[in-house]
Amino acid sequence: MPTALQHEYLRAMGINVWQDKTAEPIVADVPEVIESKAQAEPSLSNDLQALAKEVSVCEACSLAASRTQTVFGTGSSEAEWLIIGEAPGQEEDKQGKPFVGKAGQLLTSMLRALGYAREQVFIANILKCRPPNNRDPEAEEVAACANFLNKQIELIQPKVILCVGRIAAQNLLQIDTPIGKMRGNQYTHPSSEIPVLVTYHPAYLLRSPREKRKVWKDLCLAKQSFESIQ
Ligand code: SF4
Repeated sequence: MPTALQHEYLRAMGINVWQDKTAEPIVADVPEVIESKAQAEPSLSNDLQALAKEVSVCEACSLAASRTQTVFGTGSSEAEWLIIGEAPGQEEDKQGKPFVGKAGQLLTSMLRALGYAREQVFIANILKCRPPNNRDPEAEEVAACANFLNKQIELIQPKVILCVGRIAAQNLLQIDTPIGKMRGNQYTHPSSEIPVLVTYHPAYLLRSPREKRKVWKDLCLAKQSFESIQ
């Protein structure tokens, strides 16, 4: 049963959780992490800072020519959860941060419903530079950028990886299964053996709010996977 604050974040996600009106109101049982307001952006470890510097001057694919700046990723260097999206969009390219704007706010609500502040996880993308007009990443761009993500995984050593969206999942897992078939399954990251779970991208949820309940199911499954390896 979700806690009171989780209800709040589920509502923020647009999910109304059924509740027995005759039952006692849901009280305090709220993890401190989601009680706290937004925390300061954690500083990266030295190794991640060095990698971010390397990424910032990368010209290994043609996206270097059109980007405003690279988007390395943000969060805790010791995060147990790594969230992986597709690539920076227009706002991310402007701000240099992943998942900003409405989709970013929805991702923050998804994480908070799970019991995590955004600053406690690490959020990154398959590509570190924005594809023009937000087109899908090309295979050669993904290949050129893959080492950076692999290095991030190696340095952070998360316990679980959550891919948001088809592009992130297919590229990370190197499969072409449709996202509807990937959901509900646990995969293994090919080089690190870390468990990988898959759900829809928050930008898709903004267009298809009816799918939010499925996402909540995916998040619960991801949490179960995470807890089973504790
Ligand atoms: Fe380099 Fe990746 Fe940016 Fe391409 S997308 S220029 S490989 S950092």
